[in-house]
Amino acid sequence: MSIGISFVIPVCNEEATVVPLSEKIQKVMTKERLSKYEIIFIDDGSSDDSWFYIKDLVHQYPTQIKAIKLRKNFGKSAALFAGFKRAKGKIIFTIDADLQDDPAEVPKFLNKLEEGFDLVSGWRQRRNDPISKTLPSQIYNKVTAKIAGIPLHDFNCGFKVYRKEVLDCIKLYGELHRYIPVLAHSLGFRVGEVAVCHFSRQYGKSKYGWERYSRGLIDLLTVLVITRYLYKPGHLFGKLGLFFGFLGSGVLIYLVILWFLGLGPIGNRPLLFFGILSTILAVQLISLGILAELLTRYSHSDCLEQQVAEVIDENLQLSR
Ligand code: UDP
Ligand code: MG
Repeated sequence: MSIGISFVIPVCNEEATVVPLSEKIQKVMTKERLSKYEIIFIDDGSSDDSWFYIKDLVHQYPTQIKAIKLRKNFGKSAALFAGFKRAKGKIIFTIDADLQDDPAEVPKFLNKLEEGFDLVSGWRQRRNDPISKTLPSQIYNKVTAKIAGIPLHDFNCGFKVYRKEVLDCIKLYGELHRYIPVLAHSLGFRVGEVAVCHFSRQYGKSKYGWERYSRGLIDLLTVLVITRYLYKPGHLFGKLGLFFGFLGSGVLIYLVILWFLGLGPIGNRPLLFFGILSTILAVQLISLGILAELLTRYSHSDCLEQQVAEVIDENLQLSR
């Protein structure tokens, strides 16, 4: 049986909801007459009985339900990545295991995908979480949308659907799962969104608090560098290096002129130290840029493949 749709579900201490969630997914798939699907649960180091319930589900529905257990808690990105690597569907859903999202909305996502999108993200218009979460999240979403240039309202919604090609091109680590839409957009994929309903958490506890936003900002910086400078890191360091280079040499030339004109000693002027520091910094940054470019040459030989949308070759008759 070839699999059409995969559901990838990260689980960390969600013993109360894995079974009802899988029932809900099975119900909507039966209603929509979609039989070729798989549900992959990834147990991300749960310390409760989540793994026991997941294994039980696999025994009950061996063709539909699969399970992956991580050795310890590695975080949501790692769990998702483990699931993506094993997902066989051409269409891949992610949904949180805590039942805050409603699987009944699967058809809505599929319709949007058919409009020609490659990634459709849920938008929790009325988010049922405490204000300590919703307020920073609103600011964070606005900043990310502005910087990344994508008009999405809710980057961090766990309910999303992807065409497989999108995920084949993206490597997840750290906490980059929040930025998959940004990474996908930078690779030229079409990113859309649908409004979804969102329920408050009835069971278990949220795994994230305030600290996620500070870590999120650092990740945003990483993503910006990855999306803008991945293939030309020399430009990032080069620009900074040239700036300090011009500044430093300007300052030093000015001081040398003063010295030649006999307008006083320059050896004890703070400006001299500033000029020397700027020039050294410039040399450092430019050399770092050259090193980064050399590394890119070695490590990205196959990366250009990510940018290919379609290949037409009469001899090979290959298209993607
Ligand atoms: N999760 C995970 N590993 C972690 C943290 C969370 O697999 O280290 C899963 C968690 O079980 C849930 C989803 O990621 O299925 C979203 O987590 P949570 O509901 O705590 O986030 P929130 O809804 O509060 O943003
Ligand atoms: Mg949640």
